[in-house]
Amino acid sequence: MKRTASIFLAALALAIPVQGATTIVDNQPASWSKPIRPYRVVGNIYYVGSEGLSAWLISSSQGHVLLDSGPSAAGAKLIEANIQALGFKLSDVKVLINSHAHFDHAGGLAQLKADTGAKVWISRPDEPAVKKGQHFGDNDNGLTPFPAVKVDKAFGEGQKLKLGETTLVAHLTPGHTIGCTTWTTQVIDRGRPLNVTFNCSTSVAGNVLVGNKTYKNIVADYRATFAKLKALPTDVMLPSHEEQADLLAKRKKMLAGDVNAFVDPTEIARYATTSEEAFDKELARQESARKP
Ligand SMILES: [Zn+2]
Repeated sequence: MKRTASIFLAALALAIPVQGATTIVDNQPASWSKPIRPYRVVGNIYYVGSEGLSAWLISSSQGHVLLDSGPSAAGAKLIEANIQALGFKLSDVKVLINSHAHFDHAGGLAQLKADTGAKVWISRPDEPAVKKGQHFGDNDNGLTPFPAVKVDKAFGEGQKLKLGETTLVAHLTPGHTIGCTTWTTQVIDRGRPLNVTFNCSTSVAGNVLVGNKTYKNIVADYRATFAKLKALPTDVMLPSHEEQADLLAKRKKMLAGDVNAFVDPTEIARYATTSEEAFDKELARQESARKP
């Protein structure tokens, strides 16, 4: 079986939303804190995350953008070491963005902000969760707290982030969280333009789909997100978790000489379809569990 049952979901399933019980925050997969060598992916995009949890540096002549933060202050330090190992200065990181307001993508923001002085940009719907430091919306795995951080700019659909010759565009793809953000950019790699998509997560991950009192539109949001992702022109899909796009396998191919290891224009539609199938199954399960 392809690794469709993600490590993240498996780990989330361990979490018990009872006070004093073990939670996902305590029970993280070892790969999330395992260092790996950072590397250039395509164009001006670099992988600076851990083995299992992504972080992306998008460089420019006017400073850099960092996407995702790791799960904690220690996760932030791992990312910082990777940035420096590539020869970049922490003080040149100007903007911190993330895929969504879950601890494994927002828990290191406070540390990164303190160490780089960068501005934090968060989608408007995810802003309250990031400011508070916990998941928003009814979730069977609880609220998974993380260090809160001051948001410098809250943005909406279509927001552009321009730094030097680099432009990133925000596409709101809610469901997994209410402000889940998919970022796109175009790079020049080996002389040709490539559309790069940093897709936000689309798994259910404990979300209450039937009768969610705080996030009422959750099912419609997921549906719209699947359609949106399928239609997004994408040559290179760079997700927030390794297993969503087999990043380690691609890196291996790259090291073996495949210069197109990360290029796959059909991948995002396959990813969205697989996610949608898993979503439908979980929705049906929750609906039947609710029936008297
Ligand atoms: Zn998540």
